[in-house]
Amino acid sequence: MERRVRVRFAPSPTGPLHIGGVRTALYNYLFAKKHGGDFLLRIEDTDQTRFVPGAENYIIEALKWLSIPADEGVGFAQGKHAPYRQSERKAMYKQYADQLVANDYAYYAFDTAEELDTMRDTLKANGMSPMYDAVSRMSMKNSLTLPSDEVEKRLASGEPYVIRIKLPRKEEVRFHDIIRGWVVVHTNTMDDKVLFKSDGMPTYHLANVVDDYLMEITHVIRGEEWLPSAPLHVMLYRYLGWEDKMPEFAHLPLLLKPEGNGKLSKRDGDRLGFPVFPLNWTDPKTGEQSSGYRESGYFPEAVINILAFLGWHPSDHRELFNLEELVNEFSLERVSKSGAKFDVQKAHWFNQQYLRGKSDAELAVTLKAILDQKGITANLDYITGVCGLMKEKVSFSNELFSEGAYFFIEPGKADEALIAKKFKEDTASKLKAFAAKLSEVNDWTGAKLEESFHQFCEAEGKKPGEVMLPFRLSISGVAGGPPIFDMAALLGKETVLNRMEQFLASLPTSLQA
Ligand code: GLU
Repeated sequence: MERRVRVRFAPSPTGPLHIGGVRTALYNYLFAKKHGGDFLLRIEDTDQTRFVPGAENYIIEALKWLSIPADEGVGFAQGKHAPYRQSERKAMYKQYADQLVANDYAYYAFDTAEELDTMRDTLKANGMSPMYDAVSRMSMKNSLTLPSDEVEKRLASGEPYVIRIKLPRKEEVRFHDIIRGWVVVHTNTMDDKVLFKSDGMPTYHLANVVDDYLMEITHVIRGEEWLPSAPLHVMLYRYLGWEDKMPEFAHLPLLLKPEGNGKLSKRDGDRLGFPVFPLNWTDPKTGEQSSGYRESGYFPEAVINILAFLGWHPSDHRELFNLEELVNEFSLERVSKSGAKFDVQKAHWFNQQYLRGKSDAELAVTLKAILDQKGITANLDYITGVCGLMKEKVSFSNELFSEGAYFFIEPGKADEALIAKKFKEDTASKLKAFAAKLSEVNDWTGAKLEESFHQFCEAEGKKPGEVMLPFRLSISGVAGGPPIFDMAALLGKETVLNRMEQFLASLPTSLQA
C-alpha cells in the first residue's frame, strides 16, 4: 500500500529563520499539498546550549505570515504524534540508543574532552583524518576496549558517557536522493558519531531519525548542508530495523550570494540592502536588529514566489505563481542540483508585480496601518486615492508612504540646487500668476486643472515644462511623482494654494516674485 505522504520542516530554534530555511519549509509544504499529504513542523531543540528564546515563535509566525501553515506541529494542530518539540520527547529516545547497544550497533564511550583532543592531534600529526572510527576507537576508552565488568562499574557509578554508533570499517553506504540521484559514501570516511549524550539527550542524528520514523515521515526534504549526515541516517534506519520505512531523501541546493560564490549570509543582505529573514528580529542577547521581508514592505505572496524560484523552475516560462498554482506545478524533479543565486532586482520586480495586482482599496488597508503607526489620520477615501496614484511608482508597500509622504504631511524644503538650476528670473512670478488662476478653478478635478494649466502656459507664452516642475516642487517638495494634475486634484484646492504660497515665500530673495 502506498504510504500517505508526510513531510516535515524541522528547524532548530537557534535564531531567526534564514530565508533558506523558509524555502525548505515552502518546498515541503508544496510537496505535501501536491500529494494530498501532511506537512509537519517539528522543533529540534536537543542542543540546549544553542537554544535562543523567541526563535520558536518566530518560526511559527513566519509560516503563518506566509500562509504555509503546518498540518501538525508546534504552534499548530496536535496530531497523534504530539508532542512535536524534541525536548518534550526526551524520554522516547533512550530505548532506541539502548537497542542499538544491545544489538552491537552502538557502544558506550567514556573518553574525556582532553583524551579526544589528544587522539585527534595524534592522528593529524600522522597525516590522518582526526576521526573516531573503526580504527581509532580501538585505542580509546569505550565498551569495545574496556572489560565488560569495568563498563558496568563505570555506568553504575554515574560516570559521564556517550553512546556512539559502531560503523563498519569497509562498507559502501548507498542511497538515492530525488534531486542528486545515487549517492555513495564509504564508511572509512565516516565518524562513529555520538547518538546519545551524557545529559540524557539524544543528538540531532538519533532524534531526527527516531522522530522521522515515529512520525511516519515519507520524504525528507532539507538543505544541502545535511547531505553529509544522510549516510549516517541511512545506517541508523538499517541498524534500527526500519529500512522498509526509510523516507526518500531530497537535498535542496544552497542559496548563494548575488555574485554567485558562497552561501547567502546576513552580511550580504546588509551590504546589498535586502532582508535575509522573513520578519524583523532583535537578538535577545546582543540587541542586534535584522530586518525582515514583512517589515520591508514585501507581500507574503511575493516572498513565496521569489523563494519558489530559488532552486526550482516550472515547465514553461511563466514567472508569476500564487500558492495554489505552485502546488499544482511543483515537483522535486524540477529542483536543480546547483546553488541558486539570490537576485535582488528580481526580488524587487516580483514584489512590484504583486503590488500592482492589488486593488487601491487593498493597498489602502496597508497604507492606513503605516499611517496609524505614525499617528497620522486621514480618511480612507483619500488614502485609497493616494494608493491609486502611487501604485505605479513604487515597488514596496512601505514606499506608498515614504515616497508619497507629502500627501499626508507638509512637504520638506525643496532641493535648493535644483531650484537654482531650474528657476529663471520670472519663474516665481509665473508660478504666482498660475496660483491666481488656480484659485478661480471651481471644479477641482485633474482634467480641469490640466486644462487651466495649458490655457495658462499658452496665454503666458511658456513651455509647459517651464511651469510644470516649479508647480510640482511647490506642492510636493520633490521633482518626481504621480501625474501632477491628479495629484493636485487629490491634495485639494486649499492645500495646493497654501503650499504654493508658502513655497513662493520660502524662495531665496533673488528668485522671489
Ligand atoms: N534540525 C535540523 C535543522 O536545523 C534539521 C535538518 C533536517 O531536516 O533533518 O535544519
